[in-house]
Amino acid sequence: MATERVFNFAAGPSVLPESALRTAASEMMNYRGSGMSVMEMSHRSSTFQEIFDSTKAKLKSVLSVPDSHEILFLQGGASLQFSMVPLNLMGENGAADYAVTGHFAEAAAKEAAKYGEVNIAASSADKNHTYIPAQSELKLTPGAKYFYYCANNTIYGTEWNYVPEVGCPLVCDMSSDILSRPVDVSKYAVIFAGAQKNMAPAGLTVVIIDKSIAGNELPITPLMLSYKRMIDKDSMYNTPPCYNIYMLGLVLDWIIGRGGVEAMQKLRDERSSMLYDFLDGSSIFRGCAEPAARSGMNVTFRAATPELEAEFIRESAAAGFVNLKGHRSVGGMRASIYNAMPVEGVEKLVEFMKDFEVKHHA
Ligand SMILES: *Cc1c(COP(=O)(O)O)cnc(C)c1O
Repeated sequence: MATERVFNFAAGPSVLPESALRTAASEMMNYRGSGMSVMEMSHRSSTFQEIFDSTKAKLKSVLSVPDSHEILFLQGGASLQFSMVPLNLMGENGAADYAVTGHFAEAAAKEAAKYGEVNIAASSADKNHTYIPAQSELKLTPGAKYFYYCANNTIYGTEWNYVPEVGCPLVCDMSSDILSRPVDVSKYAVIFAGAQKNMAPAGLTVVIIDKSIAGNELPITPLMLSYKRMIDKDSMYNTPPCYNIYMLGLVLDWIIGRGGVEAMQKLRDERSSMLYDFLDGSSIFRGCAEPAARSGMNVTFRAATPELEAEFIRESAAAGFVNLKGHRSVGGMRASIYNAMPVEGVEKLVEFMKDFEVKHHA
């Protein structure tokens, strides 16, 4: 049993800033003199409306969301967006381009194929998703209703380091790297992200949508999955995930206090280069992703043998570095180093890995 907080390298749900957790704890029983917890509050109350509005305003400011775009706080996880995107954007007999660079992009493409024609504009499956296709390799379909890609491939540890130029509305799953670097939101028709990687506890999905693209959903679209409906009702057609929205507000306070997304990007570069530099010089570990495609958020790596990997996962967990096991579909190891992972956590992990290497080097 851990008596102190561990360094939690989980891919999601994942580590949250301590200051956000502390504030939530101190406000748990009585939120700012309301006499109740945010968990117990009507979503139609003025106290909650203030939380909602200020969280949205903070996110708008942190990501420089232009007035052309609306921020939605929805449920259903990132995975429900795999359906919501085509239902709203595909149109009757429409076609869309998908870049398949990992598990979640593939799942999104499969789901979209139920509603229209899906063209695989690029795939990295030929090299087990260890790279990101170049702009020149994208096979764009004339007349495509949108182009879809996943900015950071959480399982494979790769990340797009460019924004595709596609000549049609751009849709992006940013679940595992939103708020870790500046984004030009104006380039996107839809950005979505499940909150549980880099924003808040599980249960909230953030959608940032160009308002002009909403309102063309297929007739079969459930009301709950209509972007237009949710825009018109400011995400309150039904009960929104109130407590998660509050938590997102606290996480945004922390990000703003540290200097915004530019500061997050600096920290992310510091953390990830420390790990990759170590892996590149290691005699028993090696990184999985091609260097040009390396993720700043999910560092995937292997050890020389499966036995050594099992030993590493066991010993690291005992030393307080938990959840370093890779996704069950790919094996190996993965260190998820989201915004809230302290630089110190990675420093200590690298020290631990150096010691492990000395101990186990044949
Ligand atoms: C985790 C993840 C998902 C799935 O998120 P859910 O909220 O569990 O549906 C989708 N895309 C990416 C990139 C992810 O990291």
